[in-house]
Amino acid sequence: MHMGTLLIHAGYDTDRALGGSTGALGVPVYQSSTFDQEDPAGAQEYDYARSGNPTRKALEDTIAALEGGAGGYAFGSGIAAVSSALGIFAAGDHIVASEDIYGGSYRMLNTFFKRWGLVCTAVDASDPEAVRRAVRPNTKALFLETPSNPLLKITDLRACLGIAQEAGLISIVDNTFMTPLLQRPIELGADIVVHSATKFLGGHSDVVSGLAVTRTGEIGRRLYAVQNGFGAVPGPWDAWLVLRGIKTLKVRLEAQQKTAGRLAEWLLGQPQVEAVYYPGLAGHPGGAVHGAQAGGPGAVLSFRTKKAEQALNFLRRTRLAAAAVSLGGVETIASYPATMSHASVPQAERARLGITDTLIRISAGLEAPEDLIADFEEALQ
Ligand SMILES: *Cc1c(COP(=O)(O)O)cnc(C)c1O
Repeated sequence: MHMGTLLIHAGYDTDRALGGSTGALGVPVYQSSTFDQEDPAGAQEYDYARSGNPTRKALEDTIAALEGGAGGYAFGSGIAAVSSALGIFAAGDHIVASEDIYGGSYRMLNTFFKRWGLVCTAVDASDPEAVRRAVRPNTKALFLETPSNPLLKITDLRACLGIAQEAGLISIVDNTFMTPLLQRPIELGADIVVHSATKFLGGHSDVVSGLAVTRTGEIGRRLYAVQNGFGAVPGPWDAWLVLRGIKTLKVRLEAQQKTAGRLAEWLLGQPQVEAVYYPGLAGHPGGAVHGAQAGGPGAVLSFRTKKAEQALNFLRRTRLAAAAVSLGGVETIASYPATMSHASVPQAERARLGITDTLIRISAGLEAPEDLIADFEEALQ
């Protein structure tokens, strides 16, 4: 079936999928921490809600079906999903990671996991040979994110996931920017897909949540041991909000993507703008690779003003875009990576990565594009 149909029907159709009998189309919120055990000596599907909850299960089955994996796992945030996936590795293991992964993932790798003995090498993953060169005898994992944040650099997933398979690595792809509507890394060879469901999947800036999908049941069992043991799980209401968001992902993301394309083209023509980064623009480096692995350029773009004060003025003066972190909501958001998403990346490293104080990231919302352009024009003056 097409993704548009799966978004509505995959994972959960009525409450009968959860053992209910009413035929309810809406997913029941099982606000219960524990479950009566009919046979105290036997096992049953639900016993304690950290280990499993029917509402969460509906979400987990939905994301597994959408990404085409064996199992889905829900977490209390995207970074909890990332950290729990990294939690299947051990001290002494080495991981190769793309150098422009999400700032919070970078921070976890270089502080928390470093303290626990997981060694990370950051590479420019837009060059698959750099990935190959970084693999050592004790390398166990490859962690990618494409398009990257905030410069929308493209990683060739087929090439890099092929290198991971040859070397026997477990590959992890953060698919937050694309969602399964536009990109399905498991079909391209990934072992684990992670999401911040806070972004496009939830889609309404009203919930913090994370998801992971594993290609195989074996890796799924390792991840479930962390999910249940570490316990960074979402409550049933948050799972319900993400499920509700997923239903409208197609119409939201397609409209937001269209608006992002219009904003990118318009920004290119503005005298205050030095550069625009959007995989849908002709000449975007990696645009052809992206086109071959994803169904569209997405709804996030970045641009650089000529002077830092122009960027700050824009953020202060825009009335329609919220000056905020996060992305993927129905509201347009303008963020300032230097002090927001990448504040935890050391200054020298930020400069090397091109995260200057002239850089603004836009997540296009569902407002009328004409109104956004009029507002941006004023804010850039
Ligand atoms: C936001 C984000 C995360 C972290 O997710 P939270 O829900 O904020 O914990 C991870 N990866 C990417 C690409 C993100 O945008």
